[in-house]
Amino acid sequence: MKKVLTESDIEALLAQGKGADAIPAGTILTPSAKDRLKLAGGTVAKRSSFSKPAAASAAPAGNVTMSDNELFGVPVIPNYEYTWTPGQDPKTRDEIRAFYFSPEITTIRENMALMGKRMWEREYTDGNGGNLTVRVGDNLALCTPTLICKGFMKADDMALIDLDGNQIAGRLKRTSEAMTHLAIMKRQPKAKACCHAHPPHATAYAVAKVQPPTCLIPEAEVFLGQIGVAEYRTPGSPENAEEVGTVAIDHMSVLMINHGVITWGKDIEDAYWKMENTESYCKTVWVASMLGKKLDPIKASEAKTLIELRKSLGMDDKREGWKECELCDNSDFRPGFFTDRDGGACQVACGCDSGSSSSIADAEELVKTITAEIQSQLGK
Ligand SMILES: [Zn+2]
Repeated sequence: MKKVLTESDIEALLAQGKGADAIPAGTILTPSAKDRLKLAGGTVAKRSSFSKPAAASAAPAGNVTMSDNELFGVPVIPNYEYTWTPGQDPKTRDEIRAFYFSPEITTIRENMALMGKRMWEREYTDGNGGNLTVRVGDNLALCTPTLICKGFMKADDMALIDLDGNQIAGRLKRTSEAMTHLAIMKRQPKAKACCHAHPPHATAYAVAKVQPPTCLIPEAEVFLGQIGVAEYRTPGSPENAEEVGTVAIDHMSVLMINHGVITWGKDIEDAYWKMENTESYCKTVWVASMLGKKLDPIKASEAKTLIELRKSLGMDDKREGWKECELCDNSDFRPGFFTDRDGGACQVACGCDSGSSSSIADAEELVKTITAEIQSQLGK
């Protein structure tokens, strides 16, 4: 029996007709293993993996695929984040082989192939473009191979690499752009998976060097946050890794100037969702900008509420401490394009920088002092 049990281990245990009493004292259970055990309530039941939901939903009526505990128990929020025990990365060839083909890692590799298919089908990648990574240890990540179409990958195509990019296992050579993904993972521990692609609309913003505006669609504020911009560096180079890694600390979606988009999340589907969110948002803003009216952003007070909601879902937001007038200031996006937000409204309204009311007050005070001094001199 292993010291740490995962959800897959609990599945295996339940499949043998065993329950919680078969787990020795002192065994550590991952959060998803605990959930699975709680949900099972000792009953033998197999839950479908999220990569295969069709099998369960397509089952004919009367074909029981869930236990009563699953069907009527406490509903859970889906969570596919992979957690590992620090200091327990596999080292020997036998350990690495067992790890690579373990049910949990196999599911992740299958889902990477699936997300690649979704990217390619939505035309986010062309040719051999795009790449995906998932962190699976202190110093381990799974990574898509180089020179392969992302729409037709197999789970066994994924390379296992360390966080310096050295290939540890896998029949295909890892992508050169993995270094950028790894730079993000090293700087931002919440980044457990990265997704890179060249979706046409978002990439158009990156090519035109236009940062997408904020405060136009609530879901984008909550699930995406502000989209960051990284300066152009040669793809796959250490300079690109440094530039993008730094910007991605505060941004889950980053436009790479003259290149494409990279997103990160807590698992590979989450990272992929950020790619969908980014492309969809850029496309919508582009179309809205052609409808002949100025765009009217969400009010800053309401944006604050959305940022609070984002935080409650476990996602940081660098705008948390910003003043209200700064939150929806899109004056850099096509000047004259927004209602109420142009012409330095921020500075006049609440004093964000050099034109602030406080510095105006300081200037007025200085004028008063100088006038009094001159009058005093003249009076002598
Ligand atoms: Zn690229």
